[in-house]
Order: sequence, then structure tokens, then C-alpha cells
Amino acid sequence: MARKKAFKAESKRLMDLMINSIYTHKEIFMRELISNASDAIDKLYYKSLSEKLEDVDRGTLQIDLTLDKAQRTITIEDNGIGMSKEELEENLGTIAKSGSFDFKSNNETDEDIDIIGQFGVGFYSAFMVADKVEVVSKQYGSEDAYHWMSENSDGYEITKTQKDTSGTIITLYLKENTDDENYDEYLESPTIQRLVKKYSDYIRYPIKMDVEESRKKEDSDEYETVVENKTLNSMVPLWKRNKSDITKEEYDNFYMDKFQDYNPPLEVIHTSVEGTVSYNALLFIPSKAPVNYYSNDYEKGLQLYSSGVFIMDKASELIPEHFRFVRGLVDSQDLSLNISREMLQHDRQLRAIATRIEKKIKSELLKLLRTDREKYEAFWNTFGTQIKYGVYNDFGANKEMLQDLLMFYSSKEDKLVTLDEYVSRMNEDQKEIYFISGDSVEKIDKLPQVELVKEKDLEILYLTDDVDEFALQILNTYKEKTFKNISQGDLDLASDEEKKKVEETAKDNEDLLNALKEALKDEVSDVKISTRLVSHPVVLSAADGMSFEMEKVLAQMPN
Ligand code: ADP
Ligand code: MG
Repeated sequence: MARKKAFKAESKRLMDLMINSIYTHKEIFMRELISNASDAIDKLYYKSLSEKLEDVDRGTLQIDLTLDKAQRTITIEDNGIGMSKEELEENLGTIAKSGSFDFKSNNETDEDIDIIGQFGVGFYSAFMVADKVEVVSKQYGSEDAYHWMSENSDGYEITKTQKDTSGTIITLYLKENTDDENYDEYLESPTIQRLVKKYSDYIRYPIKMDVEESRKKEDSDEYETVVENKTLNSMVPLWKRNKSDITKEEYDNFYMDKFQDYNPPLEVIHTSVEGTVSYNALLFIPSKAPVNYYSNDYEKGLQLYSSGVFIMDKASELIPEHFRFVRGLVDSQDLSLNISREMLQHDRQLRAIATRIEKKIKSELLKLLRTDREKYEAFWNTFGTQIKYGVYNDFGANKEMLQDLLMFYSSKEDKLVTLDEYVSRMNEDQKEIYFISGDSVEKIDKLPQVELVKEKDLEILYLTDDVDEFALQILNTYKEKTFKNISQGDLDLASDEEKKKVEETAKDNEDLLNALKEALKDEVSDVKISTRLVSHPVVLSAADGMSFEMEKVLAQMPN
């Protein structure tokens, strides 16, 4: 008798939380288990090609589903790579093993639920419909097979067992029906067929099941029931299908399944290119940043396929840093199957694809800006900071790529505007793009410096993000206009008449100014009569060079 092992503590709590709350659609357990089976076959398929394995018949790789009403079980079987004993422990005994997930144990707010939804809770979704789960697995190349079992998601045990071929068999013992939940429906063949079509149609391997069909007997009017082992999925990868035949729901399901996001994507970019390099790309802009997005755990990159064969996850060379939020995949017949991570950097084809993908993402974002402002702003609010850091970090190398994507709050429009919009509204004698930094739009709006510029009916960009001013400084110009911080130096907005008046006032008050200068000599570098004030009596103004805001940001930076 094997000793029963407890799940790691956080796993148990997470499982309970998940089983009871996150997925309103319990039916997704099917897609999770099928996608795991498909991943396992992908791994064996790839191994057999790259290592030229003789004993793997790639034509027979498949997923088999079996329904047993008497036992109330569903079985999902694959002949993929299988799991060793250690892998069963590691993969099914703990959750969120990436460590990126710092589970908050003391509250169960909606926010938590959202967080969980972003993680690969895949396998555990079985416990949403089953109170007992058995896994029998044999790793390719190994002699030994193991049996993993967990009841009520309350710990698990592993024993040795027999299995002829490599792969994994998962058996779910369905829960009893309750007043609100009907689990019996998952024992119905039409339900399972529908779920496979809905969530797993694009899986590259046949998903087979015995299906009863009533058929007309030959040479007779009678019908008979025959059982046919049918392939339930169409097996065409989504990205190889015609764009116009794909529904939003299909894209959404594909994305949420493959990239483990609880939310549908904000935008889908599906493109197919033929030429010196040919490829299909299916890219997604998430609607929310993943929880670990701003941590070091987040890995950018696209999945890479070669003629439909999965090669690797998160090929980072395919996505530039400033678009690192983009998820998706690239499938190209021009890539060698044996390409390694180390080779990616130097592969010319891959670099050509990466360049085109970057351009494509930019043009799609600009299109979104033109056609669906609201959606673009949603994108900007989620990932805009990334774009601004992109401008800043690359010392202007990406100016052309990124400058038209930027948005800042406008004093005149009372909303986010692009630099292009700003410049197109500038009157003839306005030479510079005015901006000012501060903590918030409300605070900036009250600054004395703002008043005068607004009075002159000039538009000001309010910069509220730490990186904003640095980004503009790197940009240096936009459409040949320079940027001008209105809290700095001389704005030269005054008319000759106003200037003359100021000169006279300064002369008349020379004694006062000198007295102030003397009194504040350690504090400020000069005291002047100003043309920059309307109703405020005094304004502190930085000399040209580093602004107050930039000094503040730099002072906060760790050394
Ligand atoms: P994810 O698929 O996101 O990694 P899951 O919880 O769905 O998370 O699965 C956890 C891990 O268990 C997988 O990464 C894989 O290593 C292993 N696994 C699950 N199902 C299978 C299977 N049918 N064959 C081989 N390995 C599997
Ligand atoms: Mg999975």
C-alpha cells in the first residue's frame, strides 16, 4: 500500500478555491485535459523527428476518449511522451510550480480569483467534475509505469503498475449529481462531441471516440445502430485556417486555452505571409497584463512551429522588448526542426520574420487607434508604460517604430491624445510641443505655470508617469517640433508690450528684488518679475536642463 502524500499546502487551498469558484464553466476540464494530452504528443513527435527515433510511428499518435455510464467514468488517453514517477509528483502534486505565484492566503476577493484564472490550473480542473482521478503513465524510453490517484483532491498516492506503451491514461470518476449541478451530462456522447468541437477542434492529432450511429441497413428500410470510432476534431490548426471562417469565439477559446488567460484577448492579429520567408502568425494582445508581467518571472516570446510541428515555447527573439506583452505563435516551413534556442539569435529567416512581426504589430495598433479609439485607450492604459519605456530604453533607436503610438493627456481635449493630433492642432507660430509633469492630471491643472499657457489658448500635455519626461527627452523631436517643459526656462510667450512692462516693473522694484535675492540666496538662483503668471503671485521655475520632476524620479531610483 502506498503512503498517501499531501498536496503542497498552497495547492490544496488553491484547488478548493478553483473548484468552487473560478470556472463558472465546469466543462472546460475537457479542453484542459485534451490540451495536456496534445502537448504530451507534441513532445514525443518533436523528439522522434529531432532524434530520428525509429520506434515512434508518428501516424498513430492520437487521443482516445471513452465514456462509461456504468462506472460513471470518462477516460482520456494519449500515446505521447508520458510521465516518470518524479514527473507525476512534480507536475500533478503541486500547483503554480513556476514560483511566480505568491498566493495570498488570507482573502478570497474577486481579485484573487482573477489571479488564479491566469495560471495553468489545467490538470486540477478535473476535480471540478470528478471526486476521484486516476492517472496511469509510462514515460517514453522507460520500462516502468506508475499509477497516480487522488480522491476529493485530498492528497495523492503513487504506486507502480503495468502499461505496455508510453503515454498517459487519465480516468475521471464523476461526482454525483446535485440539485444545481448535473455531472451525468458529461457521460453523454453528444455533450463530449460538442465540447471537443468547441474547444479542441484545432488539435493536430485525432481525438477519437466510439460513437453510436443509426444507419440504414443495406438493401432494406430498417435501421441499425453501429458503433464507429470517429475522429471528433477537424485537426486543422486554427492559424492555418481562413481568417474569414474563424469566429471570435474560436479565437477567444484558442487564446484562453493556449495562453492560460482567464480573459479573452483585446485584439487578435492573424497574418499569413508568402515570400522570401513564409509563415503564419497568430498574435494576441491580452486585455489585462499577466500578474507577473512587471516582474522578472515574465518571459516574453512566441511559440514556434515548423510546418505545424511545435518546436519551442517563448522564442524571445521573435518579439522586441517594447512589444513583450504580445502572446501568440509563429509557424513557418522555412525553419529547421532542429533549431535550438542558441541558434535562434543567428537564424536569418527567424530575424526576417521577427522584423515583419514587429512592423505588423505596430501597424495593427495604429489601425486600432484609427478605428476603435476606446479599445486603443484600453490597450494604452494597460501597456502604454511598456511602450514609453521602449522609447526610453533604446535611446531613440525605436523612435520611428513607437512615436506614433504614444498618448498623453491633453489640457485642451481633456483626454489622451497622440503627438500627431497635438502637432496637427498647433497654430503657425507655436514652435514647440508644451508639456508639464506632475503626480496627477488634477494636481498639474492647478499649477501656476499651466494657467498662463492655457490662457493663451495653447495645448499642454500633462505627463503623469515617471517615464514620460525621459521618453520625450529621448525622442527629442516629433515631426521636427521640439518639446518644451513649461515649468522650465523662458517660454517666450509674452508680447513686446508685456515684456516692456515687466522690464519697467523690475526697474521700479529693483530694491525689493535685490532684498529677496539676498534673503533667498541659498534657496534659488535668481528672482525675477515674471510674464508667466496670471492669478498666482509666485512660481518656482527650474532652469533649463533637468526638470524638478526628473530630479524627483532620479532621486527615488535605487543606486
Ligand atoms: P500546464 O499544462 O499549463 O503545464 P497542467 O496542470 O495542465 O499545466 O499540467 C501540468 C503538467 O503535467 C504538464 O506541464 C505536464 O508536464 C504534465 N502532464 C499533464 N498531463 C499530461 C499528459 N497527458 N502527459 C504527459 N504529461 C502531462
Ligand atoms: Mg495544461
